[in-house]
Amino acid sequence: GSLLAAENLRKTFGPTVALDGAHFSIHPGEVVAVMGPSGSGKSTLLHCLAGIVPPDSGSITYDGRELSGLSDTARSALRRSDFGFVFQFGQLVPELTCVENVALPLRLNGSPRKEAERAALTWMERLEVDDLKGKRPGEVSGGQGQRVAVARALVTGPRVVFADEPTGALDSLNGERVMELLTDAARSTNAAVVLVTHEARVAAYSDREIVVRDGRSRDMERAI
Ligand code: ADP
Ligand code: ADP
Repeated sequence: GSLLAAENLRKTFGPTVALDGAHFSIHPGEVVAVMGPSGSGKSTLLHCLAGIVPPDSGSITYDGRELSGLSDTARSALRRSDFGFVFQFGQLVPELTCVENVALPLRLNGSPRKEAERAALTWMERLEVDDLKGKRPGEVSGGQGQRVAVARALVTGPRVVFADEPTGALDSLNGERVMELLTDAARSTNAAVVLVTHEARVAAYSDREIVVRDGRSRDMERAI
């Protein structure tokens, strides 16, 4: 069955209908691209699926549990233990070094510093940014920063990685490198990836595409 599934999601912001009957499903280890034009509801869908924003109606089931049936505390705990996040901009803490940034989710989950930083370095090696461990985010390039962010998203061993335009601020060469490393890393741990993008060359790294238009979603066969 599906690891994460949504049925008939509706979400409004005042007069704006962001989601209007959207549906979604993803299996363990699957990489699904959520495509569609700007303003079509992609980010809102991702925020609902990740339990960050409650839909007005419709159901979201993760690992057999209905998200709306969980308390806020249980939902945050689930996000910390089972989900990883990569966003387009500004997600690294500027005052921390790169290794401290990657170790942060483990530290917040209560891991001792040495252990957390050892695990962080292992992920930084896989993302080929271990040489940046002592640098601060302001001292690394955009592509390097996104690879540090991917390492941070994966360090807790999430079952789902939510990536919202993870290459949106990068040139195509760096964007492709980030996608290659992100999808390889996710596949090696059987993590599913929900990838929001409006770029076909980024979606090409997915197993399947869902297209959102005016808040509605459609499954697309991958045409190769
Ligand atoms: P098509 O263009 O092939 O007729 P639609 O775009 O109408 O398909 O719908 C595609 C999918 O999106 C359907 O499988 C349906 O489940 C879902 N969907 C679209 N709009 C709604 C809605 N208002 N309520 C529930 N599901 C919807
Ligand atoms: P996309 O990610 O496809 O660009 P979004 O999900 O960000 O689309 O937005 C869908 C629609 O909902 C847009 O019209 C957007 O302006 C609106 N919207 C999204 N978030 C909010 C919000 N927090 N407050 C008001 N309107 C919002």
